[in-house]
This record gives sequence, C-alpha cells and structure tokens, in this order.
Amino acid sequence: MHHEFLLLDNALNLAKMKIMKFINSYYVLPERFYTDFKPSIFKKPELVSFNESLAKDLDFDFSAFSQEDLAMMFSGQTSLNGSIFKSLAYAGHQFGHFVPSLGDGRAALMGEVESASGKTFDLQLKGSGPTAFSRRGDGFSALGPALREYLVSESMFHLGIPTTRSLAVVATGDLVYRETASPGGILTRVASSHIRIGTFQYFAARRDTEALEILLNYSINRHYPEHAHLSIGDKALSFLSSVAKKQVELISHWMGIGFIHGVMNTDNMAISGETLDFGPCAFMDHFNYHQVFSFIDKNGRYAYSQQPHILLWNLSRLADCLVPLLGANEASAVEKLNAVLTSIPKLIEQEMRKVFARKLGLDGKESECEDVISQWINYLEETHIDFTWAHFYLDDLLKESPSKDAVSFFPQTQSGKNFFEAWKKLSPVIKLSVNPVYIPRNHLIEEAILKAYQGDFSLFHRLNKRWLKPFHDGGEIEFDLARAPLEQEKIKNTFCGT
Ligand code: AMP
Ligand code: MG
Repeated sequence: MHHEFLLLDNALNLAKMKIMKFINSYYVLPERFYTDFKPSIFKKPELVSFNESLAKDLDFDFSAFSQEDLAMMFSGQTSLNGSIFKSLAYAGHQFGHFVPSLGDGRAALMGEVESASGKTFDLQLKGSGPTAFSRRGDGFSALGPALREYLVSESMFHLGIPTTRSLAVVATGDLVYRETASPGGILTRVASSHIRIGTFQYFAARRDTEALEILLNYSINRHYPEHAHLSIGDKALSFLSSVAKKQVELISHWMGIGFIHGVMNTDNMAISGETLDFGPCAFMDHFNYHQVFSFIDKNGRYAYSQQPHILLWNLSRLADCLVPLLGANEASAVEKLNAVLTSIPKLIEQEMRKVFARKLGLDGKESECEDVISQWINYLEETHIDFTWAHFYLDDLLKESPSKDAVSFFPQTQSGKNFFEAWKKLSPVIKLSVNPVYIPRNHLIEEAILKAYQGDFSLFHRLNKRWLKPFHDGGEIEFDLARAPLEQEKIKNTFCGT
C-alpha cells in the first residue's frame, strides 16, 4: 500500500514539469486506430541504461532527474506532462499467414514528441503490461530482449542505417515467465512513427475504406508531405513508390552490413523505412548467402538471400490495401499499382549494386562493376570468410605493402584470383566510413545478456560505448570486440524471447 502512495507522490511532482514537447497527432485519428492503455505497476523499477545523446536530440532536459525518476518515467509509473498512453491497432502477415488483429500486445505509445530539430518522434514503452491486443501474451518482456534491442538498434544507428532507436532500458524488478523465469525489462523505443504495412492491412481487412483514406493522408503528411497536394488516387500511387524506395534503400543497407532481420512480417515493416523489431535479428559472421538465425524460421523464408524478395512480397501486400483508394474501377487500380510494383526489382538491383560498389571502393562505377560484385559474392560464398573482416581488409590490400594479416586472411582460390585482378583494374578507393570493424556480433550480445542476468552490466555498457564508433579510426583495434567468434562461440540460433 505504502508503495502505491510513493508512486503517486512521485507522479504528482513530475507531472507538474514540462519535460518534453508532446504533440500526439495520432490521437486525433478515429478511436478505432488505438485503445486506451494503463501501464502495470512494477515492484522496483531500476534504470539500466539511458541514452543521453538521444534524449538531447529529443529536447528532453533530463538534468534535474535522478536515476530513480527516470526509471519511474520509462516504466510508466509516473505520467509525463502531455503524455497519453495508447496501444495501436494493426494486422499483419506472419510468415505468410494473415492475422487480421495483432496490434501492440506488449507495447504502448506514450505520445509523440517534437525533437530539437523540429521532427516528430513516437515514444513507446515495450514490455509495460497487458493491452487490449495482448491475446494470449502477458504484455511483458524479459530484460534480455530489451537489452538486445537497445544494443542492436543503437549500433545500427551509428552504422548509418535507418532504424528505430532506444532511449532507455528499465529492469522492472518483477519476473516474467517464459521457458524459465527471467527478470522483466522495459525498452523505450523512439521511432519516426509506428505505422506499419500491417496498419494498412488492419483497415483493409475490415473493408474500412474511410479509415484507409485517413491513414494514407496521415502517413503522407507525416512521412511524405511532398505528395500532400495530390488527389487521393495519386497519393496512393506515390505513397507506394515512396515507401518502396525507402524500404529498398533499407534492405540494401541490411544486405551490405550482413544484417538478417529474421522476422520480416508485414507488421514489422515500417512505412518510414526504418528498421523495426529486433526480435530474432542477427548479423552474419562468416558469409553464408542463405543464412538463417531465427529458430522459428524453419523454411528460411527470411534468410539473408531472401530479404530483397520478401521486401517485394510485403510491398505487394501494401499495394493490395491501396486498391479501394484508386477509384471504382478495380481493374484499372490494380493495373496502376502493378506498374509501381513491377518497377521495384530494378530498383532493388540498382540499390544493391550501389551499396556493394561503395563497399568495394567503386562508387560511381556501378555499371562497370556489376560482374566484379558477382565475383566477390561468389568468392565469399565459396570461402565462407567473415563478412565484416573481408570488407575491412580490402582497403589494406590496396596499400603498397599490405599487412600480413590482410593477405593471409583471404584464401587463395581461382575465383578469388580472378576477382582481385578484375577489382584492382577498376582502381578502387575505399572510404574509411564504409566498412566497419565493429558490428553487433551475436556472441558478444549473448554474453552481455548472460552477464546482465547475473547482475554484471559492464559488458553491456562497454559494447554500447564501442558501437558508437564502429569504423576504424586508425588507432589500436579492440580485438576482443572486433574478432569473429571461435567455432565454439558461434551462435547458431536466435529467439524472439517475447
Ligand atoms: P513480434 O513477433 O514481436 O512482431 O510480435 C507479433 C505480435 O505478438 C504483436 O502483435 C505483438 O504485440 C505480440 N506479442 C509479442 N510478445 C507479446 C507478449 N509478451 N504479450 C503480448 N503480446 C505479445
Ligand atoms: Mg513486431
């Protein structure tokens, strides 16, 4: 009982202060877009990590708050001035099967805030208790997945890949029950919005054309305002093109960094083109074109090699939703949307070529280096060498006297010889900020989580700090964080853990 009075006290103090500038434009949309949400009460929330640099970007002056205050705020125990909790409705194709009602089952929007640079961002708590969409789930999250998302999303950001970000992780002090009992955790996610392909599918499945039009207009105003002047039909077409372009860029970034999302369901594809949902994701160590990590992805639907194909499949599902917005003539609507879809494979090809040309130091020579890129991918597949080191060492090979380490790294094969000859003929110049030396390797993440569960957060913090600067700055390399895993350290499977 005492405990609850304390919470209330704290809430009153904090509520008086204007902490961040909340806008909450999504809540102006009709009530069928979201449901009310009340965070659960947690025993003893403790702040594990707080992202000061992101907080500053969000114009959040946190200097007056203690760690305890922040733990209360980012576990939903105190309500911030201007923040309103809602859980958002969405549907989605999960592994190809349509589920008409998914929604935020263990997440709640706190509201939208305006950043220092005038941009709008969603703040969302993940793991703060049951919602109207929880179905058979408990609405909570274990601490491990929260730490994982914090580490990987922040690392992705510093690698220059569009992504949702992480503002805080709080340990709730309560246990969550999965295969075993684990400490509970809450992640505060920051996203340019949480509108997914699945949000469109939610209303399309209900034949709610009015809601689809409202959602399209809202999405365009928020993400693609350059289309705001168009008629609704043209908006739908331009929107599909713009989302496609953003998502093609995103997936090409993933391919270039060896990132495997692992659960590219339509509910996990943000229309902003940001990486969303870090459940079973993983970075490749040794190259394997058809690599799968996610334990539940038994058929390899979301393998590394499949990501560009799935992207197109997902965009086709978005196109399905837009048909009713193109007028009464369905056949003509389908034809117009199809014209956009058929242009996507070429877009993917071009963007992928651009990404790999940059990695090989051949920017601007995309048309000349198509064959060289294929030779390179074939060589990687033949030798299964570490994806990150392979690219990192390329630069070294271009020096007058390459290091012994670099030379001996690359196995000598006939296809390798052919590639290196053809590649060097194109006079490559590799920029330092293209091929990182530090990526969020699975074995490091798993070790950090294991240690955190034993009460030692030092590796978690060390990794976070290291991954702020993933590119080599010419100094000493922290080899224990950069090296590929030994055979016995390799993580074979990842789990959603939700
Ligand atoms: P995900 O696989 O993380 O994309 O989640 C798919 C769906 O399951 C979403 O609707 C989630 O909100 C829901 N979900 C995942 N974990 C939980 C949980 N612990 N409790 C309730 N719903 C959940
Ligand atoms: Mg999800």
